[in-house]
Amino acid sequence: MKNQYILIFAIVITLFNGCTSGTHYKALIVTGQSSHNWRASSPILKQILEQTTLFSADILKAPEKKEEMSTFAPNFSNYNVVVLDYNGESWSEKTKTAFVEYVKNGGGVVIYHSANSAFPEWKEFNQMIGLGGWGGRDEKSGPYVYYNKNKLVIDTTAGSCGSVLKRQEFQVITRNPEHPITKGLPIGWQHGSDELYSELRGPGKNMEILATAFAAGTAGGNRRNEPMLMAITYGKGRIFHTTLGHADEGGGPAMECVGFIVTLQRGTEWAASGKVTQKIPYDFPNNGSISLRAGFKEMTLDDDLAKITTYDITKSTKYFVDLQSRIRTEAKTPEALQKFEKLIIKILENKEATDDGKKLLLGELSWMGSELSIPAIKQQTKNPNLKAAAEFALARLQPSR
Ligand code: ZN
Repeated sequence: MKNQYILIFAIVITLFNGCTSGTHYKALIVTGQSSHNWRASSPILKQILEQTTLFSADILKAPEKKEEMSTFAPNFSNYNVVVLDYNGESWSEKTKTAFVEYVKNGGGVVIYHSANSAFPEWKEFNQMIGLGGWGGRDEKSGPYVYYNKNKLVIDTTAGSCGSVLKRQEFQVITRNPEHPITKGLPIGWQHGSDELYSELRGPGKNMEILATAFAAGTAGGNRRNEPMLMAITYGKGRIFHTTLGHADEGGGPAMECVGFIVTLQRGTEWAASGKVTQKIPYDFPNNGSISLRAGFKEMTLDDDLAKITTYDITKSTKYFVDLQSRIRTEAKTPEALQKFEKLIIKILENKEATDDGKKLLLGELSWMGSELSIPAIKQQTKNPNLKAAAEFALARLQPSR
């Protein structure tokens, strides 16, 4: 009897996954030792990847410092992409060999900022990351690679490797707008406050620099355009290297930056599959200002509706933006769209709801509403604050009137 239940449960789970989730790729986030706050960053990396619905991500914590490392032997080949949020003790020779084989045979890798300081002595790893920093790296690791204005510079000058400008907002410049990861991104976009890595060096073989940032002299930088995003191939494997996304507890502006989030999502898909199917979202930052998705708490539809009901124009529109994105991604049938329409009508009819919130919703109804909304919209024409928005929506919904 018990077995039957388990079987039915398993079938239900299988059907559920098959029908509702678009997960295509398995990601392994390797973490557990780092000079950075991996306890904060790794769960957020998992969320960022899973939000795409393209990935399911497992977090694997390596043994702590001085614990037995020889037993650490992940089964890399079970995954499409391995995300390294790790810089710590060296792995066993067996595990290193397994990792190299995995990548050679087409496995994907994501190097998440300080992972580029890991394993300074490991030759194959240095080839995979393209450029690295710290850990005693120097001219023997390879040249400095950067842009001087629009010119790529391979600089073999002797010297130390890896330095960091203190946290600040900075502009990221797309250098290769044709690469699947960066195709369609703005040429310049403003990144949330983050460390700016500079003076990385490495073999830089089979590496494309996708984006750079200027290490401004006023910020103590060397006035080079330093690589921020890189795509590397190693054997049949693809490696996406991002220097961005330093974590504070709960995220912080570097991880909440839509530019970081989206390039990580796109870079991970490319590393896993060689292509990028994700669209550039409407909240991607532009040249002028940063764009943050604050709080890595999961937003729910109920949160969205509650916040819009009490919405104040001077506050963040992120809940409304989340509702819009739910409508765009979830309402695939007229019935599903009507479910959202009914929720919106409820807020319009709610006397406690703010005019600011209602105004946003009237704009939304103007394209996704039906005759179902018309009585509730007509009511709003009596409110001087909402008259114009309501009449606009009515004109869109009753064009022949
Ligand atoms: Zn760092």
